[in-house]
Amino acid sequence: MLTKTKIYLSSPHMGGAEQGFVNEAFNTNWIAPLGPNVNGFEKDIETYLGNHKHVAVLSSGTASIHMALVLLGVSKGDEVICQSFTFSASANPIMYQAATPVFVDSEPETWNMSPELLEIAIKDRIEKYKKPKAIIAVHLYGMPYKAAEINLIAKKYDIPVIEDSAEALGSYYKNKPCGTLAEFSVLSFNGNKIITTSGGGALICSSLQYKNQAVHLSTQARDNTPHYEHSKVGYNYRMSNVVAGIGRGQMEVLDKRVAARRKNFQFYKENLKHIESFEFLEEPDGFFSNRWLTCIKTSSYEQREQMRLALLEDDIESRPLWKPMHMQPVFKDYLHFTNGVSEDLFKKGLCLPSGSNLTNNDLNRILEKISQTPQS
Ligand SMILES: *Cc1c(COP(=O)(O)O)cnc(C)c1O
Repeated sequence: MLTKTKIYLSSPHMGGAEQGFVNEAFNTNWIAPLGPNVNGFEKDIETYLGNHKHVAVLSSGTASIHMALVLLGVSKGDEVICQSFTFSASANPIMYQAATPVFVDSEPETWNMSPELLEIAIKDRIEKYKKPKAIIAVHLYGMPYKAAEINLIAKKYDIPVIEDSAEALGSYYKNKPCGTLAEFSVLSFNGNKIITTSGGGALICSSLQYKNQAVHLSTQARDNTPHYEHSKVGYNYRMSNVVAGIGRGQMEVLDKRVAARRKNFQFYKENLKHIESFEFLEEPDGFFSNRWLTCIKTSSYEQREQMRLALLEDDIESRPLWKPMHMQPVFKDYLHFTNGVSEDLFKKGLCLPSGSNLTNNDLNRILEKISQTPQS
């Protein structure tokens, strides 16, 4: 019997040049959290983003969000507003600083932070003498959030924004690359992201001074003396030169990866359009999504589960949309401003296999399974 291979939600997809850069690290013995690949990878990202930002590559996206909070001076007891509909890594660094998260729900057009609720939340906190120290907004699944609206509110109340672009490298908002839309932006190169270094992240800074501070703090905050002198608490967050080599290779194929993921989205949308109860997330005017994951909103929890289980039966991985932070056991007791949007998405939504390395056979196999599930 022919055994079918497992189809993953989103798996690493190497381009070919990665190993050359890694070999170079070995050949030159730059096996350290510094070296030519680290500098080269940072340059590559800066070039991709239009050369007006300063990039520090770090050990993960989570570490990068943490570093942004540290640089903004977020500390014990401070409040930080965070999009509720996201992966927990957006919010965890708030806890590392012993600060307090305040969660804000999404609007239905992009599934990201609702500007309306954001302003309500800010006003409420200011009234209670708890002006938020930062806002963490997320381009979920690669779809840009409403950056103009969010930035306008942030500016009005003078609160810095941290742009969680972990899922959105290759996305654009009104012709500006995601990762350049805030004071600090964050990328992730985890194994499931649009490009990967096996694990890694980047902090994108609006000034060279911020970048230098980030690098200093991420390499144990060693002062400039012959012995080890420390006047600040440091972190071991720098990316290694071996890992950065993978990143350099991946940057060469980023545009191809975006094109392939967008093609997956088109394939699903085109071939499932007869199922009227399915909703796809469309790009508003001026929004360009990398379509990191293709998501479907079904009509009910039951329909979603039937589809997920049918796929699983055939060894095809799919996953419910992110469970909102305000519903998570670890965060449920924190203040949240909600409107039902993310709860509804969590109940009815499913992420379909979306890797840039899916074959036509894979896609047709997935389609066949979905077509067999009830379509009411
Ligand atoms: C992956 C991800 C992160 C964290 O990145 P890591 O590199 O895995 O630490 C943060 N936010 C979002 C939205 C993510 O998807």
